[in-house]
Amino acid sequence: SNTRHPTAPPTMMNSHFAPVGENPSREQYEHGIQVIDEDKEFNQHLSTYLSIEKIIPAGFNYHLISVFGSQSTGKSTLLNYLFGTEFGVMSEQERRQTTKGIWMSKNKRVSAVKDANSMAENILVMDVEGTDGRERGEDQDFERKSALFALATSEVLIVNIWEHQVGLYQGANMGLLKTVFEVNLQLFIKDSKTIAKTLLFFVIRDHIGTTPMSNLRNTLLQDLSRIWSTLSKPKGLENSRIDDYFDFAFCALPHKILQPEKFEEEVEKLSHRFREGYNDPKKSGLLDEGSLPVFLPQYHRRIPADGFPVYAEGVWDQIVNNKDLDLPTQQELLAQFRCDEISREVLVAFDETITPLEDKQAEGVRLGQPTVLAGLGAAMNLARSTILKDFETNASRYHKGVYTRKRAELEHKIDARLKALFQKQLSAANKAGVDQFSSAVSAAVKSGQKKGNNYDFAHIVDSEKAKALAKFEEDAQAVLVEGASWSTYQADLTLYKKDLEEVSARLRKDEMRRLATRVERWVRSRLGESVGLEFNKLGTGRGGSGAPENGDRPATEKDLWDRIWAVFTETVESAEGRFTDRARSFDASPEEVEVGLWRLRRKSWGVLRAKIDEEVMEGNILLKLRENFEDKFRYDESGVPRIWRPTDDIEGLYTKARESTVTIIPLLARFRLAATSAPPPLDAWIGSAPASTSSADEEDLAPIGGVDEDEGKSLEEEMTVLNDTKMQDLLVRFKKTADGVYVEAKRSAIGGMTQ
Ligand code: GDP
Ligand code: MG
Repeated sequence: SNTRHPTAPPTMMNSHFAPVGENPSREQYEHGIQVIDEDKEFNQHLSTYLSIEKIIPAGFNYHLISVFGSQSTGKSTLLNYLFGTEFGVMSEQERRQTTKGIWMSKNKRVSAVKDANSMAENILVMDVEGTDGRERGEDQDFERKSALFALATSEVLIVNIWEHQVGLYQGANMGLLKTVFEVNLQLFIKDSKTIAKTLLFFVIRDHIGTTPMSNLRNTLLQDLSRIWSTLSKPKGLENSRIDDYFDFAFCALPHKILQPEKFEEEVEKLSHRFREGYNDPKKSGLLDEGSLPVFLPQYHRRIPADGFPVYAEGVWDQIVNNKDLDLPTQQELLAQFRCDEISREVLVAFDETITPLEDKQAEGVRLGQPTVLAGLGAAMNLARSTILKDFETNASRYHKGVYTRKRAELEHKIDARLKALFQKQLSAANKAGVDQFSSAVSAAVKSGQKKGNNYDFAHIVDSEKAKALAKFEEDAQAVLVEGASWSTYQADLTLYKKDLEEVSARLRKDEMRRLATRVERWVRSRLGESVGLEFNKLGTGRGGSGAPENGDRPATEKDLWDRIWAVFTETVESAEGRFTDRARSFDASPEEVEVGLWRLRRKSWGVLRAKIDEEVMEGNILLKLRENFEDKFRYDESGVPRIWRPTDDIEGLYTKARESTVTIIPLLARFRLAATSAPPPLDAWIGSAPASTSSADEEDLAPIGGVDEDEGKSLEEEMTVLNDTKMQDLLVRFKKTADGVYVEAKRSAIGGMTQ
C-alpha cells in the first residue's frame, strides 16, 4: 500500500496530553507530536518531545520545515517519504481530512553517508492542516494563524501544489500565498532587520512532464509577483520587494500512482537535498537549479532549541489571541524566561558545592568557634567559574542585551554568597590567628620563666606576630576568587594587624605585671635582709661607743630610721632601674613605665612597712631590747664581760643601762629622720598618680596615710610604728626582763663571793 498510516491512531490523540509524571517514551511519539490541536490548544509536552528526540541541547543546530498546501494534495505522504516521518495520511478509500492542527516530527531518515558535516542535523518537520478544507467553517482564520506560526518558526515553507493548479491564479493556492505574504509583512512592521528570510520551496505534484519545469517556474514567479503587487503594504514597507523576504525554489515530482518508481526515485533525490548541510551543496550531485542548499544560515530563526517550546507557545498565544505578533519582543521575553530558567538550573550545582560550606560556617559561628574551612578557595573558584561558564554556554545564545543583564544578575547573586563565605573565612582566620598568637606568646614566656626569666619579650612578640601575619596572608590568598572584584583582603589584613596590636598591648600589660611582681619580690627580699640587719644592730648596746669591727659606720639607735630610709630608697631606686630597663626592652610606653614605677614605689613602701611591723612584733623587739640592755649592762666599755663582785655598783650600772635602752622605745615608735625629726617625705617620694593611671592599676593598691588624702589617715599615723599603748606595754615588759637580768646579776655577785 502507498499509505503508511491510514489514520492517526486514536491512542495518540490523547497520549501527548497525558498528565505530567507519566513516563514519556519514544514509542508514544512515533507519529510525532501534535503541537497545536484542532481546538487551537498548544501542546504542553512539546518540550518533552524535543528532549526525547535530543533536540533540546542542540543550540542552533536544528532546522524547521513546514509544509503548506491544499488538503489531500499528498503533503503528509511527501513528508513521510522525504523524512521517514509517520504522519497520518488519508486512506485512498476514505478521502477524509486526516491532519488536524499542526504536527511536528523529527526527521527519521538516517543517512547512509556518515559524513556529519555534509548532513543537516536535527531536521524538524511541521505538517500543517490543509487549507481549503471546507469541513471546517473557520478555515480562513486557521490558515492565517498557522501561516503566521509557520513563518515565525520555520526556515523553509514547502508549498505543495498539483501541476494542474499552476497558473490558476484564482485557485486556493494563491489565496494561501496571499495570506502568507500578508502575515509575513505583518511580522516585519516592528523590526525589519532582525527577521530572517524564508525559503518558499514549491513542490509540484503529479508532474506529467509535458510542460517543462522552467515554464512552470516562470508561471509561478509571475503569479507570485502579481500577488505581491496587489498586497496593501504597511506604512514604511510600501516599496518592499518580494525577494527582500523570500527566496524561491522549485521542484516537480512524477505522479505517485501512475509512475510509482519514478516518483520514488525523484522523491529520494529530493530528500537528499533536504538533508544536505550548509557546507557543501555541490556534494549532493544535484548541479541543476535544484542543487541550491535548502538550509541557509539566513533562514534560521535563531531560537535556541532549548527555548523553542517556550518561544513557540508564546508566539502561538499571541496569534490565537489576535494580538500583534511582535517577534523581537517575543524573543526578549523568551530570553528573559530562559535565562532565568538556566540561572536556576546552573545554581543547582553551585548550591550543591556552596550550601554545605555555608552551613558549616554558620554552625561554627553558632557555636562561637568560627572555623577556617580547608579547600574553601578551590571550591569557590571552581563553583564560580563553572556556573558562569555553564550559564554562558546555555544562555548566551539568547537575546544579547537580556543575556548580559541576566548574567550580571547571576554574578551578583553568587558573588554576594561567595563574598560572605570569603569574609567569614577571613574573620575565622583572624580569630584563630589572634588566639594562636596570644597562646604562643604566653607559652614562650612560660618557658622563658622556667629558664630563669632571661627571655626577650619583645622578640617573642615580634617573631610570633610575623608568623601570625604570614599565616593570615596565606589563609587569605587561599580564598581569593579569580575574576571577582571584591576578592581582596587588604582591609582585613589591616584589621588583623590592629587586632594583633591590641592583643600585644594586653600581653605587654601582663608582662609588665609579671615584671612588677618579680621586681617587688626582689625588693621584698633585699629589704628583708637589709632592714633586718638594721634592727639586729639594735641588739648591740655598744653601738654608740664601741669600735666597729667591720669598718661600718657606727650603728647608733638615733639614726636607725635614717639608715632604714636610706637603704629603702636606694633599694627601690635600684629596683626602678631594673624595672625601667626591662620594660623599655619590650617597648612599653613611657606612660606605662611611669605607672609601673609609681606602683612599684607604693608597693615597696608596703613591703617596708610590713617588714618594720614584723621587726617590732612583741617577741622580736623585746628580744632586741633585752640584748641591747644586756650588752650595756653585762659588758664593760672595752666589751669585756663583767664578773660581778659584791662591791660593784650593780644597781647604778643597771639603772644606767636600763634607762639607755628605754630611750630606744619612743625612738622606735615613730619613723622619723634624725636631722628634721620629721617623717621622711614619703608623699613626695611616691609622687602623685601619673595621668595615665587606670582604675585597674589602682585596684590592688593598699591606701597609704599622708599619700592618699581621702583615706583620712595622716602621714604621722602612717609613720607610727608603735602606738602609746603598745609602747607602754613594751616598756613594762622590758623592765620586767631587765629586772630579771639585774636579779640574776645580784645573785651571781653574792654567789661568786660564797663560792
Ligand atoms: P494531505 O492531506 O495533503 O496530507 O494528503 P495525504 O498525504 O493524506 O494524501 C492524500 C491522498 O493522496 C492519499 O490517498 C494518498 O495516497 C494520495 N497521494 C499521495 N501522494 C500523491 C501523489 O503524489 N499523487 C497522487 N495522485 N496522489 C497522491
Ligand atoms: Mg496530511
